[in-house]
Amino acid sequence: MLSIQGFPRSYRRELTQALGLIRQRLAHPPGPVPGDLLGDLRAILAGPRPTVDLVFGGATGACQEDYARSGGYRILLCNRTFQEGRVPAVLLHEMVHVALGWELDAEAFENAWFRRAEGARPPTRSDWETFKDQGYRAWWVQMDPRTRRVTDYADRFIHTFPPRPRTR
Ligand SMILES: [Zn+2]
Repeated sequence: MLSIQGFPRSYRRELTQALGLIRQRLAHPPGPVPGDLLGDLRAILAGPRPTVDLVFGGATGACQEDYARSGGYRILLCNRTFQEGRVPAVLLHEMVHVALGWELDAEAFENAWFRRAEGARPPTRSDWETFKDQGYRAWWVQMDPRTRRVTDYADRFIHTFPPRPRTR
C-alpha cells in the first residue's frame, strides 16, 4: 500500500486520478507482463505490504532536475511531474523501480502502458546510455538494441522504443 504524504491540496485530485488509472492498468494490463512483476505492483498499490511512502518532493533538491526519485520503499514525486501532466506514467515508472526494476524495465512499462497524454515519454539519451551500460538487459525485460524491441524473459513482446535520440 501507498502511504501518501505532503502533497498540496491542489494536487490531490490529480494524484487520485493517476492512481485510479494505474489501478485500471494493473487490473487489465494492456499487454504481457511478468506475473511476479504484476503481483509486486499490485501489492505496492493496494496490498497489506509493502508499505511504500509516496512523498511530495516539491521543486528543490533532487526535484530540480528529476521528475521523481525512488529508493527502497520510498517514492519522491516532483512538482514538475504535476505541472507537465505526467503523474500516471511517472508514478508507474517509479513503482517498477520499487519492484526491483532497472531503468529498461521502468521505461518499457511506462511506454507500453501509457500514452503521451498520460505522461509517458520515450527514453532519453541518458536512459539509452544506461541501457547500454547494463547490456540491454534488466530485471524483468531485455532489448535488442538494433530493433529496439523489448521482450520479457519468456520472449513475450512488451514494447518497441522509437529511435535513440542523436548525440549532439
Ligand atoms: Zn527510472
